[in-house]
Parts: sequence; C-alpha cells; structure tokens
Amino acid sequence: MRAHYDVIVIGAGIIGCSIAYNLSKRGKSVVVLEKGSIAGKASSAAAGMLGAQTELEEDSPLFRLGKESRAMFPDLAAELKTLTGIDIEYEQNGIYKVAGTEDQVARLQSLIKAQNQLGEEAFWVTTEQLQKREPALTTDVLGAMNIPNDGQVSAPKLTKALAQAAMTLGVEIREFTEVHRFVKEAGEIKGVDTNIGLISAAHVVVAGGAWSENLLKEADVNLETYPVKGECFSVKTRKRLINGTIFSEDCYIVPKAGGRLIIGATERPGLFDETVTFEGISLLMEAAKKVLPGLGEAEWEKAWAGIRPQTKDALPYLGEHPELKNLFVATGHYRNGILLAPVTGKIMADLIDGIAVGKDWMSAFPINRKSVKVQ
Ligand SMILES: Cc1cc2nc3c(=O)[nH]c(=O)nc-3n(C[C@H](O)[C@H](O)[C@H](O)COP(=O)(O)OP(=O)(O)OC[C@H]3O[C@@H](n4cnc5c(N)ncnc54)[C@H](O)[C@@H]3O)c2cc1C
Repeated sequence: MRAHYDVIVIGAGIIGCSIAYNLSKRGKSVVVLEKGSIAGKASSAAAGMLGAQTELEEDSPLFRLGKESRAMFPDLAAELKTLTGIDIEYEQNGIYKVAGTEDQVARLQSLIKAQNQLGEEAFWVTTEQLQKREPALTTDVLGAMNIPNDGQVSAPKLTKALAQAAMTLGVEIREFTEVHRFVKEAGEIKGVDTNIGLISAAHVVVAGGAWSENLLKEADVNLETYPVKGECFSVKTRKRLINGTIFSEDCYIVPKAGGRLIIGATERPGLFDETVTFEGISLLMEAAKKVLPGLGEAEWEKAWAGIRPQTKDALPYLGEHPELKNLFVATGHYRNGILLAPVTGKIMADLIDGIAVGKDWMSAFPINRKSVKVQ
C-alpha cells in the first residue's frame, strides 16, 4: 500500500468502480476503500436495465445524462471485454412499456409524442403487433410503447468488470475497509481514517450509495437522501420466453443470458433492511404472471433485495464540496445507477482533473443544492 494517493474512492459499487476505472485511464494513483466486498450492495441487486427513455421519460438534465450514458455502453462493453475478458452481456434489446388500461394507453401515447419531438425513437405497438413480436405475452394488454434503443447489461458483471479493469490499470481495491471519518486540515481534505488506519490522498470521492449521507454528515455535508429497498427474483426457462424487456405498472421482466428472467422490483422507501419478504416476492409473482402467463412453468432460481440511494428531488449528487476543498460526491442514482455509471465515472474524473464538464445542464446536480421534495 502506498503512503499517498492521487484519489481515494469510498465504495466499490458500480459508481465507485466506474470512477476508479476512468481515473486509472488517466494515470492517477487510486485506492478504492470498500467496507464489504466489491459489488456487494445495490450494484449486484440491479436488474441491469438501461432505461434512459423508459425510466426517465421527459426532457430534463437527468434525461440527457441518461441518454449520454446509454450511448457509452457499446464502446464500454468492448473495452471491458478486451481488458478483462468479462462479457457484461450488453444487449440493445428494447423495452416494451405495456398498457393495461385506457388511461395508460393515453399517457404512453402522449409520452411517445413528447419523446419523438425530442428526436428520440419510441413508437406504439398494438396488441396484435405485440403478439407477433412477443407471443408469450398476455393478450390482455392494450398495446405498448416500444423503446428500441433502451437495453440492458448484467449489473454484477459490469461492476466486477469495471473493478477488474481498474485493477489491471493499477488501482488498488481494499475490501473490508470501512471509512470512519475524513482527515481535514485548513479547509481541505487530506485523507480518511479507516479500520486499517489513516490513508492520505489529494482528493477523496464519496461513492457510498445509500450509506453516503451518514459518512458525509461527519464533514458537515448534509445531503437530502434516503434508502429505497427493492426486492427481485429470478427464474429459468428452457427457451427464451421474451426478446425485449417487459415493463408494466407493477413489475418488469428482463430476459437474461441462458434463459434466465429477472423479475423486479418492489419499492420500500426508508428501509435499509435487505431481507427478502414473502409479501414482496408474492406481489411480484402475481404481477409478472398476469403479463407473462408462461412464467408458471419456469424453474425457480433465487430472490434478493438491495438498497437504492434516492434523493429528495430525485436527482443525483455529482460534484465537489463548495467549501471543503478536494472532497467530491457521486451518489443518489436511485433506480438508474447502472445506466448512469459510465457517464458518472467520466464526469467525476473530469471534475477531479479540473476539466470543465462543458454541459450547461450539469449544474443541475451540485451537492449543496436545496432540494424540492418530490415524494
Ligand atoms: C432491486 C433493484 C433493482 C435495480 N435495477 C436497476 C436497473 O435495472 N437499472 C439501473 O440502472 N439501476 C438499477 N438499480 C439501481 C442501481 O442498482 C443503483 O442505483 C446503483 O447500484 C448504485 O450504485 P452505488 O455504487 O452508488 O451504490 P452501491 O452499489 O450500494 O455501492 C456503495 C458501496 O459503498 C460502500 N460503502 C458505503 N459506506 C462506506 C464506508 N463508510 N466505507 C467503505 N465503503 C462504504 C458499500 O458497502 C457499497 O458496497 C436497481 C436497484 C435495486 C435495489
């Protein structure tokens, strides 16, 4: 272990690993400190959807951030395969937002119009057209919004590939190393204090997911964040039941490699507990079987839960502390941390490098903003 690093990254989830990978490509000396193991929290729980138009929907700084990140996946997948041999299972397989009621039909059709006006591809498919494309789907749906450019990856594989690529380029990742507090001197961050002692660096980035707020309080940074527990399960079928991801009001079903399907996800704000509940899984099963009746025959694989980092105004925090020099924060990616990981890694590496990010909408994510509560 070195005596001093250019950058300490706190958290080896997808956000911390993406930042470390981007910094390592610029020749920085980086150590990632992780209190558990690499990809041990939300980043392994994710279904891996890249839902730039499915999840974010309307024009906003976050929508633009999502689109920019989505566009980075083809190159990133190739780069990671070359560096690590890991296939992140990137697929641009499209997402169908299905409508179960006339109200949903009207809402989705107006969303298509709005996205088309922004130059985005999205179109309506009728029940008959949907049956031809996805014959395993119920005929009870009233059609769907098809978003051909949204896709998916394996979230655990992507996180591990980013970590491994960063290590190949010289980053140290210290698992089971918890950061307790920051070392400050004359208004500047000088390093961190951990269970293995003091570690010094020129810059510190907090990428601690839903646990970031607690750590930052110690440095008088008051983020407005809260955890949102989500449960998921997976099953296997002998042949692939669906080609595109199916996204309904009550659940989503994501087709994965090898006939796996991930079905998610519940939303329980305020909970840090990672237990899987009968209630959560049975609600998902019921909703999924309504949309895809053939699921009844699928083989059970496993169930899990994870904690999403959400903010009061539903925007991530990406930036530098306005007073405490050299302290950076990247958290609050909520349901879209996998989608947003490539762009977040690049933006944070630019900020640390002192490179102007150059997008006017980037000013939407400062860490000292006063939030407007949306939930
Ligand atoms: C059920 C579910 C489904 C999801 N599906 C999708 C999806 O389909 N698409 C998508 O884009 N997003 C999805 N998400 C959201 C996505 O998983 C998150 O936004 C993303 O993983 C957040 O990444 P992170 O690195 O900020 O947090 P995490 O992955 O939670 O990593 C933070 C890390 O920081 C470590 N840490 C915290 N404090 C300290 C400390 N003091 N010292 C050392 N280490 C520390 C933690 O141990 C942890 O490993 C889903 C989330 C859930 C729960």
